[in-house]
Amino acid sequence: MEKIRTSVAIVGAGPVGCTVAGLLGVYGIDTILIDRSEDILPYPRAVGMDDEALRVFQTVGVADALLDDIIQNVSLRMFTAKGERFADIRPGTREFGWYRRNIFMQQLAEATLREHLKRFPHVRMRLGTEVTSLRQGAQSVTLTVTDRDGVAREIEARYCVAADGGRSTLRDLVGVTLIGNTHPIKWLVVDVRNAAIDAPYTALHCDPRRPNVCIHLPFGYRRWEFMVFPHEDPDRLVEPPSVKALIAPYVDNVDRLELVRARIYTHHSRVADRFVVGRTLFAGDAAHLSPPWIGQGLNLGLRDAGNIAWKLAAVVNGQMDHSILTSYEVERRNHAKAMIDLADTFGRILMPTSNVKAFLRDTFFKSFGSLGAVRDYVLQMKFKPMPRYDSGLVVESIRAAADTAVGRMFIQPDVEVAFREKRKLDDVLGPWFAIVGWRNDPYAALDAQGRAFWSSMNAAFVRVERSRSGPSRVERLSTSETTMCVEDLENALEPWFQQQGHTIAVIRPDRYVAALADQVSFAEITRAFAAKVQAKRAESEAVL
Ligand SMILES: Cc1cc2nc3c(=O)[nH]c(=O)nc-3n(C[C@H](O)[C@H](O)[C@H](O)COP(=O)(O)OP(=O)(O)OC[C@H]3O[C@@H](n4cnc5c(N)ncnc54)[C@H](O)[C@@H]3O)c2cc1C
Repeated sequence: MEKIRTSVAIVGAGPVGCTVAGLLGVYGIDTILIDRSEDILPYPRAVGMDDEALRVFQTVGVADALLDDIIQNVSLRMFTAKGERFADIRPGTREFGWYRRNIFMQQLAEATLREHLKRFPHVRMRLGTEVTSLRQGAQSVTLTVTDRDGVAREIEARYCVAADGGRSTLRDLVGVTLIGNTHPIKWLVVDVRNAAIDAPYTALHCDPRRPNVCIHLPFGYRRWEFMVFPHEDPDRLVEPPSVKALIAPYVDNVDRLELVRARIYTHHSRVADRFVVGRTLFAGDAAHLSPPWIGQGLNLGLRDAGNIAWKLAAVVNGQMDHSILTSYEVERRNHAKAMIDLADTFGRILMPTSNVKAFLRDTFFKSFGSLGAVRDYVLQMKFKPMPRYDSGLVVESIRAAADTAVGRMFIQPDVEVAFREKRKLDDVLGPWFAIVGWRNDPYAALDAQGRAFWSSMNAAFVRVERSRSGPSRVERLSTSETTMCVEDLENALEPWFQQQGHTIAVIRPDRYVAALADQVSFAEITRAFAAKVQAKRAESEAVL
């Protein structure tokens, strides 16, 4: 049987698999992306994309292309049974460089992602190819695949990413189990075009008579999701006359409505018992399934992609030890669980079918307008659990603040790299490790050993100065051979560093803060980080 070799094999060319492939493309890793289907499912699935996801796509280099099909900064409004609006969630923050609530259509994004992959010659796509078996060895993992002509081949990779969706074959092949619940209530999901309704937002109609969601989508599309009551027959409800009857109260002329598709869905709240098994790492729906209430199913998977790709690249390139891959599960599993728990809570609050519960909820939400902090918490989406990696590939400094930024996502303001040359910070930092010094050159704070370590990591060094702090318009920046200098255009980095009480931040390729230091402690922090990522091989083989 023909055997093809690669560094990383990704099973599943859905949005998560394509994103891992795109990141590995950026990092220069030889990759094969496999999918049993040649086509993208033609209808919208995921519709909500958050700021963290767009930041991952920025690293892939595809964010601007995706934005062509995205409606940015869309509000989420909640309505009582009487149609009164009781909340309008529209987070104003752009702390990570992008709006927090954006609406897209998964099938358009997948097409853009696949197209973008063509720019990486070292990322090969094998569509119409199904994985049927998997064998793990000490040095590699071997997949048996069958292509559309029935020809079987073997793909031998150093690592395999299982991004093969909610019904993952690889989960079964390696014995991973999804733990959690499948909810008894079903939902009817309908996509339409030409709905005569002027509602350019996401609406949660918390009406106990028929809880439903209505989402304004790009290019004249609209999504409705209706709760199916236990006494109803889903097969009848999905028929066009029933669907139109459900939508009729919300539009002017239901007969002009073009039904694109209607399907019944069951919601799951489940997380895999293991994310890493030998040389196979699970990501996206293969690793967790979330109910849709906070639009996080895919966004969770995109965070997985951001976390997994640089670690695989660093191991394949020999920059880090194989054992660091266990940190993927340590960092991602608890957060996935927390997000799914929040989605469950949202579902319980928003979609009760009891009038009493709905009345209590409406009264509570109406009164929170007078409670500034609570209002801010809800409307700015501060309830959304942000990943905080307190173990994993991070180093806590000895004098860390209680709310230290170590293990959290770094902010992304605009900076100026030269006169009138404004850029998003990540584009300046580059796609890999970066060391950022606030009004100091972090390179100068290192001893020879530290310089050698960060050089082996290909880290970028950046010094940030106050805005307009040089002698003149054109002589403001003092970029050196080792360290680029930028201006804090939005005055955002100064308060960030001040709050942390440190002047140097080590930023991982997924934009999480790996460590904080100052000129005195940076060499020591570097040694601690190096020890963490360059463990002895014997230890690492015992771990995985
Ligand atoms: C109605 C609906 C609404 C949603 N709304 C949102 C939302 O607003 N926001 C959000 O974040 N998420 C949402 N989601 C969830 C989102 O669609 C999924 O989380 C997302 O598709 C998961 O992507 P994935 O790449 O992990 O898996 P998939 O998209 O399922 O891709 C898996 C791929 O693996 C391939 N594959 C499977 N087995 C094999 C095999 N043996 N060999 C080769 N290939 C294989 C499949 O063909 C498929 O292409 C929604 C989902 C639905 C159904």
